[in-house]
Amino acid sequence: MISERAAKIKPSPTLAIDAKAKAMKAQGLDVLNFGVGEPDFDTPDHVKEAAIKAIKDGFTKYTPVGGTDELKEAVLRKFSADNGLEYEKDQVLVSCGAKHTLYNIAQALFNPGDEILIPSPYWVSYPDQALLNDATPVFIQTSEKDSFMISPEALEASITPRTRALVLNSPSNPTGLTYDKKTLEAVAEIAVSRNIYVISDEIYEKLVYDGTEHISIASLGKAIKERTIVVNGLSKSHAMTGWRIGYAAGPKDIIKAMTNIQSQSTSNPTSIAQKAAVAALNGPQDFILTMRAEFDKRRKFLVDSLNSTEGIRCLTPTGAFYAFPNVSALFGRGIDSTRINGSLDLATYLLDKANVALVHGEAFGNDSFIRISYATSMQNIEKGVQRIREAVSALK
Ligand SMILES: *Cc1c(COP(=O)(O)O)cnc(C)c1O
Repeated sequence: MISERAAKIKPSPTLAIDAKAKAMKAQGLDVLNFGVGEPDFDTPDHVKEAAIKAIKDGFTKYTPVGGTDELKEAVLRKFSADNGLEYEKDQVLVSCGAKHTLYNIAQALFNPGDEILIPSPYWVSYPDQALLNDATPVFIQTSEKDSFMISPEALEASITPRTRALVLNSPSNPTGLTYDKKTLEAVAEIAVSRNIYVISDEIYEKLVYDGTEHISIASLGKAIKERTIVVNGLSKSHAMTGWRIGYAAGPKDIIKAMTNIQSQSTSNPTSIAQKAAVAALNGPQDFILTMRAEFDKRRKFLVDSLNSTEGIRCLTPTGAFYAFPNVSALFGRGIDSTRINGSLDLATYLLDKANVALVHGEAFGNDSFIRISYATSMQNIEKGVQRIREAVSALK
């Protein structure tokens, strides 16, 4: 029999839908996949070249557990230049993707029974990583009218003597919304005064629109910096999901504990991927601007199309590559023997009847919504929107 710990969690629902869509496609069905959580762009050439050079040069052995000096220096420079954050080398750790970084944090920080505050809707791995480390996820509901930001009052009300940490994710997966400075300042003040850690997942930092400025909560003062672990990585910014490089910066004792844990589990992230990450962080950044401009075009088209579809309404996302429309007006409608009573019903209906794959909001903690990724071509988005419209208008 498997462990109690393993029995508490489920496989990532977003990866499951992606797998189902890919399987349908392999069977020859014309599936449009809006379930994806990765850029549809290829990794930039200069990054690939650095990896090929690493292989040819024989840079193929163990490296220091927490990443090479060269990569840590590149990470330090990035934090200083992009976020105004100054760290030392023993305050950063490079891991096998940001998901691994987050897992190391959970292992290093959470005690059994600790409460971990997770604003909802949330990225699917936060609660399950807490559960895997015997901590208790506590959800803080957010709403459309607050652009899915937690209110300082709701945060205060959620804190108990057992609260250990708050997970923040801006820009957000799944909502595509970003926190403003005023709210971050209020959150920081509460975290400091109530003595809780902030785990700030900033993986979508580079993907912001409409002049939105990304602000790291750690940059709002010395006290909050000392209580924040900033998480970032190359997967989204440089279309490097398969390379598995993520990193964290934060208090020395926590980073040291995370490094010890990593030394007993994965050891260093792949040597070759580390060389590629150095090239990505230190090299030209025009790739990001090109990718972002394309995402921006798709975002506007997709959101306009959704909002002109009866029964669907969608806030304009200011970051990441997801639209998160409210579809609750469709609940109760149906066709033939099919009745749509929630987000999973709708996602299943759209996949089966319209060959459109997307993720039900319930997977992210809010059943009134669905998540549509626009990390797919404009042509696919145009076709997909058309199919969604037809399928939705058939519901009576
Ligand atoms: C994609 C993603 C990550 C993890 O990315 P890695 O590929 O593991 O670096 C972490 N957080 C959020 C919110 C994400 O969407």
